[in-house]
Amino acid sequence: MPVSFQAPKRGDKDKNKTVSQSNESNLAQDTATVQDVLTKKGDTVFSIRPEDTLGQAVELLSEKHIGALVVTDANGELKGILSERDIVRKLAQTPGKTLPHKTEQVMTSNVETCTRQESLISVLSRMTEGRFRHMPVVENNRLFGIVTIGDVVNYRLVELEYEALQLKQLVVG
Ligand code: AMP
Repeated sequence: MPVSFQAPKRGDKDKNKTVSQSNESNLAQDTATVQDVLTKKGDTVFSIRPEDTLGQAVELLSEKHIGALVVTDANGELKGILSERDIVRKLAQTPGKTLPHKTEQVMTSNVETCTRQESLISVLSRMTEGRFRHMPVVENNRLFGIVTIGDVVNYRLVELEYEALQLKQLVVG
């Protein structure tokens, strides 16, 4: 005799849960990596040199509609990161005299980086904890791109929308 669906009751054991109800299966969907974002957005990274001025930096930030620049030396090695936040802070400290300062005087030298294999969940949690929104992708001193908190959140949103659409199609047929 066919048995209709029974909603789980409080006394039920965990092992009676279906696959979609377990934590394991829900977390398994979160295995998207930095490489997935780079594949979508490309590997373009806008950079400046430590000796370049903040005046040059704001021009580039404004022209490219971005919030941060990576700072590299003549060999392309990562020396720091300069975000709009650093410039705003300097503006408050040195009103009217900010733009001639060199980037190396204002940038953050201790840069946190990620690899292409790192999961988006891990990158998102490091960004949230460190209170920054940009993460250069570096492996063996080579720059592979940069991901922003916006890229990561947006990637996940599109994924969720796609999953919702698939579920809808499954239900509607
Ligand atoms: P943001 O939120 O990215 O505009 O940056 C906020 C502050 O964190 C600024 O002082 C940046 O120089 C710094 N910052 C940005 N990205 C990083 C990073 N990946 N590692 C370390 N510091 C960073």
